[in-house]
Amino acid sequence: MSIAVALDGPVGAGKSTIAKECAKRLGFVYIDTGAMYRSIGLYCVNNGVDINDDNAVAAALADITLKIKPDKEGQHVILCGNDVTDKIRTPEISMAASRVSAVPKVREFLLELQRSFARTQNVIMDGRDIGTVVLPDAKVKIFLTASDEIRAKRRYDELVAKGEQVSYEDVLKDLRKRDYDDSHRSAAPLKQAEDAVLADTSELDFDGSCALIENIIRSKAGAL
Ligand code: C5P
Repeated sequence: MSIAVALDGPVGAGKSTIAKECAKRLGFVYIDTGAMYRSIGLYCVNNGVDINDDNAVAAALADITLKIKPDKEGQHVILCGNDVTDKIRTPEISMAASRVSAVPKVREFLLELQRSFARTQNVIMDGRDIGTVVLPDAKVKIFLTASDEIRAKRRYDELVAKGEQVSYEDVLKDLRKRDYDDSHRSAAPLKQAEDAVLADTSELDFDGSCALIENIIRSKAGAL
């Protein structure tokens, strides 16, 4: 039986970097579901699809092919035959991803793809609704969070390191808006699963956060 770890939480809680490192340590495959919503957002932005029109976004799905190729360094995202891994991490695409993720047809479109990864291999899957909707029977569920200000600072540092021109205030504002929208939508909102362990990394650095998550996984999953 394969083991699934569902790792959910708000923007910038460190889900992807921590999940990637823990997956490496444990020999699990890391699946980033946010990248899938980002790819749909990117498709809409690049093809003039109005992201505020649910019907237009739903209709665009017929033209979208999405392949996720997990590898040791994370995962590659192939959208309509093009590798878009590096194109989906901008603030504009973050907001577009959040918008299209509220469209039920988009969530339906991605659900089977997401579940398929957990059937035959050990995975750490990160997102917003993994423990509640995508993998409700996951052996390990973790809700990862940190204070708004700390999450915004981490996200700001990440964007600046990539050469993006952003201000801390804008990053904080976008983060709060995205969290608010993600938690208040009717389709699979961001929320902690009842059986998830809450992990707050506000006071922890990267190594401390990884150790915390690795320990939770080892203690919940049994012998690995
Ligand atoms: O995790 P990340 O910031 O890359 O996700 C981008 C957006 O995709 C989120 O703000 C959220 O709206 C959406 N998302 C989601 N469900 C998931 C993963 C991401 O709705 N499982």
